[in-house]
Amino acid sequence: MIQGIDHVGIAVRSIEAQLEFYRQTLGLQQVQIELVNEQRVRVAIIQIGDSRIELLEPTADDSPIARFLERHGEGMHHLALATEDIDGAISTLVDRGVRMIDTTPRCGAGGTQIAFIHPKSAGGVLTELCQHGSQTRLEVQTSED
Ligand code: ZN
Repeated sequence: MIQGIDHVGIAVRSIEAQLEFYRQTLGLQQVQIELVNEQRVRVAIIQIGDSRIELLEPTADDSPIARFLERHGEGMHHLALATEDIDGAISTLVDRGVRMIDTTPRCGAGGTQIAFIHPKSAGGVLTELCQHGSQTRLEVQTSED
């Protein structure tokens, strides 16, 4: 059901301010920035081998990331696990009594389908299931549209 760790999501106030650390200090240059309007966030996807770090910057005061920043400040927001069958994974988890935030997948960054598991069912960690489309996994660019 789970194939690996897909990415770690980090809440930031400013992608540009934090990217300096990843680009200059860590030397990670494969960065793609996109808007995920549904979540009211801008996302910087930093590719590291087969996995990623996602920097999540709110684009509106009512963004879930804006509320997270208010309560916790900047820092780790969620862990994303890769699955090749997100619908199957959701129904399996529901059958096993897991509390899902999303019982149907929604659109994530990079053309993914995502669904969140409630932290109460995951040891206090906001956990995302993440399924990539057929050709999104290694598609990396630096555009900002
Ligand atoms: Zn994520």
